[in-house]
Amino acid sequence: MYIVPEAAIADLITPEASFDAVEKVFASMAAKSAYNFPVIREAIGHADALYGFKSGFDRAALDLGLKSGGYWPGNAAKGLTNHQSTVFLFDADTGKCRAVVGGNLLTALRTAAAAAVSVAHLARRDAKVLGIIGAGHQAAFQLRAVAAQRNFEKVVAWNRSPEKLDGLRKVAEGLGLAFESVTVEQLGAQADVIVTITSSIDPILTHDQVKPGTHIACMGTDTKGKMEVDTALIGHATLFTDEIAQSITIGECQHAMLDLSIRREDITELGAVINGSHAGRTSDDEITLFDGTGVGLQDLAVASAVVDLAVEKGIAIEVDF
Ligand code: NAD
Repeated sequence: MYIVPEAAIADLITPEASFDAVEKVFASMAAKSAYNFPVIREAIGHADALYGFKSGFDRAALDLGLKSGGYWPGNAAKGLTNHQSTVFLFDADTGKCRAVVGGNLLTALRTAAAAAVSVAHLARRDAKVLGIIGAGHQAAFQLRAVAAQRNFEKVVAWNRSPEKLDGLRKVAEGLGLAFESVTVEQLGAQADVIVTITSSIDPILTHDQVKPGTHIACMGTDTKGKMEVDTALIGHATLFTDEIAQSITIGECQHAMLDLSIRREDITELGAVINGSHAGRTSDDEITLFDGTGVGLQDLAVASAVVDLAVEKGIAIEVDF
């Protein structure tokens, strides 16, 4: 079996390769040749940690495995990342362990790739202004991946603590894009594409703040109780997601399901648009919204791509196991 350590990942996989891996697995999910197994997530009663695993099988790519990990709030004080994850891949023909891959950077890359795939398939072609809500660890990855999908000219951004937007400003300017720190109202009035990537539990962005024709990728809500946009926006948008079961329970659509603004049938898997079985955006005035909840198959897809690259470049550590 192979080991690909966390430190080797950055030099191996690009946002473009992550995009291809995630686009392919979303298509496979919608074609029912890939499926996610039920998610396990537990407060383990030690170190305040939340631990769990996400797993699945892609019959088309023969990716079988799981991402194990979670959140250890005391890690920062020890000089470690609070979020820790590792991906395990298994040979689908024999069940033997194929690879162990560092999952921290991959998580950010696969999450950003999901938003980027949604923008590639659903945003208006003439989108010029990109809005980012949030400035935490994931935000810069989102900005880089999404900015590559359209000919954006400007980034407008909002964060609860605006002084934390400097990192995003540097990334935007590095990409040759103008950057402005704005209010949420200004952001909604200007942006053609909006990414929300916060841990908020109350709506930040509301329907009346968003222009017709906007595409929104809601990427922060991945747990029961989190919420980034109001249910009126969900109710007025054409809805897409990575996986419907997650969208209505732990994703951004959970609240609109509860207040009956939407039904399960109102949500389409993005893979159906990739496969061509759903038209996606059908008018320039339509608001499209992607609820990116984060599925285990995304992790397996990017980890598998990394193993192939690591073997090709002679970087993978081979162990008799
Ligand atoms: P982080 O802790 O580094 O940053 C959190 C961000 O949320 C900051 O911008 C902070 O200002 C903002 N925020 C927190 N509470 C808020 C509130 N009440 N109102 C407004 N803003 C608030 O986190 P991160 O690693 O950047 O992750 C952001 C979110 O994305 C988290 O909720 C995380 O669980 C989620 N996430 C989702 C996926 C997925 O696949 N969908 C993957 C990774 C992370």
